[in-house]
Amino acid sequence: MSFQLRARSVRLAWVVESCGARSSEYLVGRNALDRFRLDGKVALVTGGSRGLGRAIADALASAGARIVLTARDGEVAAATAGSVEAAHGKPSLGLGVDVTHRDQVEAMVAKTVEAFGRLDILVNNAGINIRGPIETLSEDDWDAVVDTNLKGPWLCCRAVAPILKAQKWGRVINVSSMMGEISMPGRTPYSSSKGGLTLLTKTLALEWARDGINVNALCPGPFATEINTPLLNDPQARAQMEANVPMARWGDPTELGPAAVFLASDASSFMTGTTLFIDGGYTAR
Ligand code: NAD
Repeated sequence: MSFQLRARSVRLAWVVESCGARSSEYLVGRNALDRFRLDGKVALVTGGSRGLGRAIADALASAGARIVLTARDGEVAAATAGSVEAAHGKPSLGLGVDVTHRDQVEAMVAKTVEAFGRLDILVNNAGINIRGPIETLSEDDWDAVVDTNLKGPWLCCRAVAPILKAQKWGRVINVSSMMGEISMPGRTPYSSSKGGLTLLTKTLALEWARDGINVNALCPGPFATEINTPLLNDPQARAQMEANVPMARWGDPTELGPAAVFLASDASSFMTGTTLFIDGGYTAR
């Protein structure tokens, strides 16, 4: 390296150190793509047995993470973990967990640490939707949606907090929704829960900003998964949704995975409390 180049790197390193960044590793010698790698990390994905959660689990494993994925049915979770392991050569564990139950959430976190010795990344993905005009919905409908989509992530975040804080590094990805920002008729429990999840994301981002824990929300638009079966099976609702998406199509679950890798990795080191929309342009209108 020439004298001038070396002097410039030393000067830049000093500027970064004095701005509070962690080290000059950010400046030299690392390919940008290396910062997306998740080797050595352990990621926990709730509701990871199918749909967007499965796609996220696959993407994180392909970037090098060991995976714990959960579903309410333990056998389904174990079978999916087996296929993630076979596809990516990374040890994976499947657990039967209902995220609305505190004891099951705490056991999930304990089993993750028991199996892999650590936990670095939490993806709060499990979620449900019950649609209908407010006067047709029951109190049980409201409780089911809000407990799954909002209380569940809150319980999971609370359970991982001591672990992430102790290691001074963590990533939490809350799978919220474009429906946490905008809405449509017939979505009172869902939109309320996802709006709450987006604000849970911002609040925890502030609480943990000095603990090395970044908390961000991924906000998908319409993806062709089981949660949307009622819309996908109704030609009129399906066409209407497509007409409202500027890209004029449904998302494919694999289109969410790379963004999850970004938020789970060092590539997003200066990013917390944000909402990342992957919606074919829906919310840009
Ligand atoms: P999906 O129905 O295929 O998957 C939902 C997953 O959550 C399933 O694995 C299910 O078993 C699990 N789950 C539900 N309730 C649970 C509970 N109480 N405990 C544990 N697991 C539970 O749907 P998806 O599209 O893959 O949804 C994943 C997430 O993405 C959800 O949070 C959903 O709200 C969100 N989302 C989806 C879309 C979309 O268009 N598909 C859009 C925006 C947001």
